[in-house]
Amino acid sequence: VRSRNSPGFMLVTVTEVGLLLSLRTDVVTVTPWLAPVVWEGTFNELLLDSIYKKKNITVAATVFAVGKYIMFLKDFLETADKHFFAGFRVDFYVFTDRLNEVPKVNMAAGRTLTVRSVPSSNRWQEISARRMELIQKLIEETLQNHVDYIFCLDVDSKFHGRWGTESLGGLVAVIHPGLDNRSRFPYERRPASRAYVAPGEGDFYYCGGAFGGLVQEVHQLAKTCRNNFEDDAKEGIEAAWQEESHLNRYMWINKPSKVLSPEYLWQDFKQRNPEVLLIRFSGVIKNYANIRPN
Ligand code: UDP
Ligand code: MN
Repeated sequence: VRSRNSPGFMLVTVTEVGLLLSLRTDVVTVTPWLAPVVWEGTFNELLLDSIYKKKNITVAATVFAVGKYIMFLKDFLETADKHFFAGFRVDFYVFTDRLNEVPKVNMAAGRTLTVRSVPSSNRWQEISARRMELIQKLIEETLQNHVDYIFCLDVDSKFHGRWGTESLGGLVAVIHPGLDNRSRFPYERRPASRAYVAPGEGDFYYCGGAFGGLVQEVHQLAKTCRNNFEDDAKEGIEAAWQEESHLNRYMWINKPSKVLSPEYLWQDFKQRNPEVLLIRFSGVIKNYANIRPN
């Protein structure tokens, strides 16, 4: 047994750290505010799983399937059951206006599916934006005291690889796969909007289609984005990318404590970039004209 002060211990530690750091030198693995950026090759999944098993965590996931988007739900749920926190307790919450079209999916033990009814809408912008309000209410009414973490995910996507404990953190955002050039980040640029991000500001452009963290932190995010969205609406403003714009503003002010690489929300129509060793979750190709109400 080596003592902490012996040269042997130092040697082992330095070697291990050196090994870890040298695994990925091709991508940014930490932000300037010292949040990890999660890429394949930067973490030990067995170690992480054993840490979180002891904590006996429950993870909630919300997914909206309003109108024709119900068609994506079956693949989403089936692949989520296989890849999303496999082996952990997961409670899925599906929000839909088509209650009798919800597919029957057999979930693994310890995983539940709850369906909640939401009104239909004839504007996709409204469906997309109302998610923040419904997430806020779900947390207040149901999750607050018995769920630890929550992820809010787009339904028009499938899991292809592990999404697990490496993604857990206080406030978690995913880097958008198509937008890595700061000068082209499509933040809301009108100062009148509460989603405004000034030129030269902003860290990453994050996806609206996947975010999460501790239930209390996501509650704060959802509440803030909802209020800002509604206050904008009262003044006749709709941010460039609806709630995604508000999310990006929020993450600029309240830095995420963990950032997930685009492995965590790729897009099927995009060719895989060489630095993406594994696509874990990806948006399917869809024809907007056929599936959106407007
Ligand atoms: N959505 C829905 N019905 C609609 C439009 C949107 O249920 O008619 C939900 C659905 O969960 C979808 C999310 O809102 O994944 C975001 O919309 P969309 O995926 O079309 O946006 P994109 O990812 O293409 O920007
Ligand atoms: Mn989507």
